[in-house]
Amino acid sequence: MWAGFVEGTQGYLVQHDDVLVRTSERAAKETAYRVRSALECAEVGLERGEISERILRLASEERSTVRMIHSPAPCDLAIAMSISGAKFDGLVLGELSLQGHVRSVRGVVPILLEAKRQGIKRALIPAYQFDEASIVPGIKLVQCFNLDDAINGGHSPELTTFPPIAPQIHLHPDDLDEPARGAYDQAAEAVAAGRHVLLVGPPGSGKTMIARRLTLALDVPTVEEQLEIATVRSAAGLEPRAGRPFRAPHHTASYAAIFNRGRPLRPGEVTLAHRGILFLDELPEFPSTVLDSLWIPISEGVTWHATRGMRMPSKATVIAAMMPCPCGYDGIEGKVCRCTQRRIDAYWKRVQKVIGQLDMVEVRVPTRY
Ligand SMILES: [Zn+2]
Repeated sequence: MWAGFVEGTQGYLVQHDDVLVRTSERAAKETAYRVRSALECAEVGLERGEISERILRLASEERSTVRMIHSPAPCDLAIAMSISGAKFDGLVLGELSLQGHVRSVRGVVPILLEAKRQGIKRALIPAYQFDEASIVPGIKLVQCFNLDDAINGGHSPELTTFPPIAPQIHLHPDDLDEPARGAYDQAAEAVAAGRHVLLVGPPGSGKTMIARRLTLALDVPTVEEQLEIATVRSAAGLEPRAGRPFRAPHHTASYAAIFNRGRPLRPGEVTLAHRGILFLDELPEFPSTVLDSLWIPISEGVTWHATRGMRMPSKATVIAAMMPCPCGYDGIEGKVCRCTQRRIDAYWKRVQKVIGQLDMVEVRVPTRY
């Protein structure tokens, strides 16, 4: 019986009886607490003392130096099953509540992909994650709602032809009025050619509406790309979604949230935008640390985490938006710009470098007043 966990966007497998010695003491204690409580609520025919003793035996081996498991929660169910003496030939995934309910886990898709790579044919998963898990072909899924279910072998889910992925809100360029439509066409052409785009226009000209529709300018994702997109969402604990991703982090978003530096290590915005669009509205408002760091992950299509020896994908098209000047109306017919030339120059100077590094195509979004 295998357990599994995710780090970054990579799934890993671990033997169920190795988990508690491959995680920190604190995480091992928390895991043991959940597992003990869940086992006490389930009908496993074990006395309290016996449960504690068996958990202690698993945890008392020498702490391993093999890759530490930072988030062992997906391994709860496998540990509890092994203590109860239940067997399952394959991978077992599920976090346990104190009452013994099986909760969803982060990273089902990457963990199953790793299981498949290692030749595992069956997986017992939280019932609620069947749709997400069935994206990975070639593994027979069994589902469970609680620990009792799991100990009794789980339920075979009903067969579905294709995972019913939640559709994205329907957007179409035809909804755009002229002249925004003209700007969309120009931007779409650049995006289709693999370029990054800077939309420049006054407030209310429809820059965000144009950007939201630009995922349609990219080809329909291939099956391989769909798996990559689903892997990233799953690793972030998000449900699968059809189509290419559109991510729009606010300019106040932290550096860590954008560049995958959180703890535990999980996908940030550049990775969540993988194979889709990273929209940066009000580009000059982003901190210079973010602007200066953008081009490496975007141009290389990958972010590196040297200390953990890990990488995450970040192949995204950047769509940035800004106004022609701080007040928004420089050069706009029928409007008066109140900015000094010095302010306008400073506004553009903030973004000059990143525009050059990403070789962005500038598209002016005109508007009628
Ligand atoms: Zn102005």
